[in-house]
Amino acid sequence: PKPQRLDQILFSQGFGTRRLCAGLILNGEVSVGGEVVDDPDAEFDTTGFAFEIGGVSWPYFDKALILLNKPAGYECSQKPKHHPSVMSLLPAPLRERGVQPIGRLDEDTTGLLLLTDDGALIHKLTSPKHHVPKVYEARCKHPLTDGMVEQLLAGVELKEPEGKFQRPPEITQAEGAEIVDETLLRLTLVEGKYHQVKRMVAAVGNRVEALHRPQFGALSLPADLAPGQWRWVGSPAEVWGQ
Ligand code: URA
Repeated sequence: PKPQRLDQILFSQGFGTRRLCAGLILNGEVSVGGEVVDDPDAEFDTTGFAFEIGGVSWPYFDKALILLNKPAGYECSQKPKHHPSVMSLLPAPLRERGVQPIGRLDEDTTGLLLLTDDGALIHKLTSPKHHVPKVYEARCKHPLTDGMVEQLLAGVELKEPEGKFQRPPEITQAEGAEIVDETLLRLTLVEGKYHQVKRMVAAVGNRVEALHRPQFGALSLPADLAPGQWRWVGSPAEVWGQ
């Protein structure tokens, strides 16, 4: 790619209008490799590029892809109704770029949530055609049985979510299901239907009391990423394990 002007780079990374970005640079607030660059016209090759603002290093990405350890009590919806949005856990430039969740986790579900401003990637990763496995750990109310696991693997009929119009029954099947301990179920799904885990577990006569997602595709929740914290994912290839 041809070199880009620093004000253009900041603009593309969500730091506000071109004018605001030029202002930040002219004020001496932007450094590259530890050196202040106060010329908005200075050009840089964006491959592997990073700049610093207020002591924070920002790697340049044409499209942002980030991983969040979602805490309970946050909604994935753009217009949250009862709780703050997961977007409020991200710094302003990521929100400004239009980063949004790839699929949704319920308000009370915790764990690995990917977010991006790449619309094509959202489509790819949420389409059942692409078969991206998602791993869930469901703490259940009643002891788990081999019969429940067999039913989940064979396919269960999901009940209509309340208040929805009559639709044909949804049959869905787990790619993987195993009993971790008496009441902890590990489920692998390749779809992302509304309240899917909770409805599947309900369909076999149990009930989810707490739900956590430790894995999305080839990505696992890093052990040192506390709830509410996020980090960059280098490229979509990491999600597929390439
Ligand atoms: N299935 C659910 O029921 N809830 C989630 O948040 C994710 C999958």
